[in-house]
Amino acid sequence: MNEAAKADGIHFKIVSGTRNFNEQKAIWDRKWKRYQELSPIERAKKILQYSSMPSTSRHHWGTDIDLNHLTNSYFESGQGLKEYNWLQEHAHTFGFYQVYTSKEHGRTGYLEEKWHWSYLPLASTYLSFYNSNISYQDITNFKGSEFATELQMITNYVNGIAMEAKHALD
Ligand SMILES: [Zn+2]
Repeated sequence: MNEAAKADGIHFKIVSGTRNFNEQKAIWDRKWKRYQELSPIERAKKILQYSSMPSTSRHHWGTDIDLNHLTNSYFESGQGLKEYNWLQEHAHTFGFYQVYTSKEHGRTGYLEEKWHWSYLPLASTYLSFYNSNISYQDITNFKGSEFATELQMITNYVNGIAMEAKHALD
């Protein structure tokens, strides 16, 4: 995909890729501290706008990448818009899909992330495996993990992906 993009004058840089539990926990803990004025559950919800609870991130799977910039606004004008338009037109032919799309049609979970792209030929297998093997008891060992069930992390977040991505390989 990178080679094809380059040929069209589009340059991609992976700004974040695979992260293990402890790396995700470091992100979570940093934000947990940042939002300390909020009540514990509101803190969790605030972080969950854009960041996952450790053990629920697709970045654990090695199938998902963040490209070029971690804000939606970057992709809404100028070079960023050109990059986003290229991805929308071509990424799926290489197996990559935007899983966190606009929520206006009922998608649950994270807010839209125009930078986060998922390689579905592998990721869809891992999502099935996750749903068969991981339960709420497995989401533990970090601050706020006690809200995982109440916030429906598996139903609303792990499975809160674009319809197009859910059915891309059907
Ligand atoms: Zn991401």
